[in-house]
Amino acid sequence: MQLFRKRIALAVPLAFLVLISGFAVSAEAQTSRPTMTGPITPRQNRSQHKWAVVLHGGAGVIERSSMTPEAEKEYRAGLAAALQAAATVLDRGGSSVDAVEAAIRLLEDNPLFNAGRGAVFAADGTNQLDAAIMDGRTMTAGAVADVMHTRHPISLARAVMEKSPHVLLVGPGADAFARSVGLEQVPQSFYFTEHRWQSLVQELKREHLPIPARPAGAPPAPQHEAAFFETPENHKYGTVGVVALDRAGNVAAGTSTGGLTAKRWDRVGDSPIIGAGTYASNESCAISGTGIGEYFIRYTVARTICALVQYKGMKLQDAADAVIQKQLAPIHGDGGVIAVAPDGQMAWSFNTPGMFRAKMTEGGKAEIGIYRDEP
Ligand code: ASP
Repeated sequence: MQLFRKRIALAVPLAFLVLISGFAVSAEAQTSRPTMTGPITPRQNRSQHKWAVVLHGGAGVIERSSMTPEAEKEYRAGLAAALQAAATVLDRGGSSVDAVEAAIRLLEDNPLFNAGRGAVFAADGTNQLDAAIMDGRTMTAGAVADVMHTRHPISLARAVMEKSPHVLLVGPGADAFARSVGLEQVPQSFYFTEHRWQSLVQELKREHLPIPARPAGAPPAPQHEAAFFETPENHKYGTVGVVALDRAGNVAAGTSTGGLTAKRWDRVGDSPIIGAGTYASNESCAISGTGIGEYFIRYTVARTICALVQYKGMKLQDAADAVIQKQLAPIHGDGGVIAVAPDGQMAWSFNTPGMFRAKMTEGGKAEIGIYRDEP
């Protein structure tokens, strides 16, 4: 009887151990099981991945006729520099999250793009910035909206992801969190650019809305109207976004924007909404969008593209086209996306006349495009 008791005493914990390890094995099997899109999340062979990066600097009515050669050169140089920043990180074995942040920080500091410095103005004459980042390996994400003093909203989004228990912070609270984690703060005048201000003035006139005073700290108004290449109509959507795949096989996505010119009522677009303008998962793909955010939110564009890849086994390009060309274009949901998948597929799709865009893969050449007729 005593021997029997001893056996039971041994057998119970043993059975428990077997049970636990069974769970552990099946959990491991779940995370490493190949999906319909192919072996995109395996833990093995990770070092065999070639890195890849795709980025955008906004989509819209961008046509050769509306662009001076100098402006075009500057845009291409800005895209090339951001691509290079991401490539440098990825090439030394850095993570896709690091690559996305590095490239977006450059674009945020480039006054040509509608993010950080160069952000468009809201109707009240302020700059209100939105950004998001998502790590496809951990499915963690961070986002901020209506930020007004943080130099790099993308780094703030990353801090939300890594240093807070939350996903989305807005307004003064988001800037306060930025200060608490030591991110650089700037006055509103830091974001000021003359061409964005002129765009606001034109747009407000068009909408018969009052024109606010020039922001404090902005340079004095130019004597003659700035005849820059920018008008509200042609470069309306200059949001920036980057998606990357690193050598470890992990994807990430990030987006940063000033939103839409003359936006009101603390409007927030799709960029900081996870699944709308930004999404990344090692199970499917990483997406960053640009365009009229309201459509991207309602059609959960980024997540829908990844869901088509994940559950329907669609090729990345086909999935992106299915949403951008087939769903959004007919309802005038202007815009586009960039995409990368853990198996190295890269894609972009836009239903506007142009999209500032660039891509590169390990060992390959940089491809930069602006107009529709470029490859
Ligand atoms: N999608 C952004 C928004 O709606 C704008 C853009 O892409 O330029 O806020």
